[in-house]
Amino acid sequence: MDDMEKHIEDIYRALGGKVDRDVIARELRNWIVNFKIPIAEAKRSIVSKLGGDPNKLVGNEKKISELEIGEGRVDLKAKVISINSREYEIDGIRRKMFYGILGDETGTIPFTAWRLEIELRKGDCVEIKNAYTKEWQGSPQLVIGTNTRVSLLPPDAVNVKLSISPRKIIELYPRMGLVEVVAKILDVQEKEVTVDGVPRKVFDGIIGDDTGEIPFTSWDVEVKKGDTLKISGAYVRSFRGMPQLVFDPRATITPVNIEMEIREIPVTIESLEGKGGYNVLVEGVIIDVKKGSGLIYRCPECGRVLTSSNCPEHGKVIPVPDMRIKAILDDGTGAMMCIFNREQTERILGITVDDALRIVQENFGNPMVIREMIEEKLIAVPMRVRGNVLSKEKYGLTMLVRDFEFLDVDDIAKKAEGMLEDLGW
Ligand SMILES: [Zn+2]
Repeated sequence: MDDMEKHIEDIYRALGGKVDRDVIARELRNWIVNFKIPIAEAKRSIVSKLGGDPNKLVGNEKKISELEIGEGRVDLKAKVISINSREYEIDGIRRKMFYGILGDETGTIPFTAWRLEIELRKGDCVEIKNAYTKEWQGSPQLVIGTNTRVSLLPPDAVNVKLSISPRKIIELYPRMGLVEVVAKILDVQEKEVTVDGVPRKVFDGIIGDDTGEIPFTSWDVEVKKGDTLKISGAYVRSFRGMPQLVFDPRATITPVNIEMEIREIPVTIESLEGKGGYNVLVEGVIIDVKKGSGLIYRCPECGRVLTSSNCPEHGKVIPVPDMRIKAILDDGTGAMMCIFNREQTERILGITVDDALRIVQENFGNPMVIREMIEEKLIAVPMRVRGNVLSKEKYGLTMLVRDFEFLDVDDIAKKAEGMLEDLGW
């Protein structure tokens, strides 16, 4: 059945089968071709004209479980399970993007909206007309575009069946829908905040399983350090460039009596793409040392890196010397920027900032000499680095290195051999 036949069938049904399909087809063509009326409006008008109730039209309405990638026109009724916003600057214009999860009795789907005519809140039931879907992490995502109409429905107009997928920490990705994890609370801090005048308890911390760690926020659900929990119905958001697990009393939380081993396995850079990661371990080779590495000068007030004794914010200052390294690490699956701080740079070079100042002076004030020393030490050298990896739209992946170690090439060869042996080679 093509689109036109579907519309005719829709009108036919709305009219209770009392009008011939040929008559409907003629009417529809007339309204669309001659009067240039948009199809949805044309259908309503035809049903009214022929004595029916336009509200009986089904249109393109679908259930969430029926949605596939790449659908051009989607109407649906859904409940807002979660909604967040994020600000972007595009060509100097600030834009707000909304994102979250919608649900109905058949399942859930992540959505994004570049514009919302009405303010939506968690729990609202909505009717969405003329949205579309696109691929996101291999699954459909609903996009509320500029031609989409969103209107509020009465509360409880939509019942939600939550489809919750069990995941490992390493698999968590912002906006993936509701998830279930079995993980151990590694650290937690309690605080009180006021939201819309209501005091609420917030528990912030770190949770981990045998694949990795992730920061979490629990609203109003007390959790204790050392607890191993099955958390069913949490969601993942992006916070400060890293994924974060969020849950509240609507999640089902049960203590689990198993010994959870927090493993430290290296992750691939590819797996961090577009989401970042908390305290992750990556092994790779430094392939480039970027400009801005070596001896640098900072504003003593704000820490900004300066190229003269003028800070854009603090005016004339006496710049403070510092050292850092911005290097590109490649692991074969992707590349990311690694930032080493002063202490780490001193360790890599085996010199202090004072030594660096003296070396630069001895080389007629040329600071490039330090960067060259870094290149000599790092380029093509295999390393293991650990730290938070931030995913920022403009800059890609950046790791703020917490720990590092140089890897022995022989070690790597041995390890590879061991792995092959394990695989029975
Ligand atoms: Zn400053």
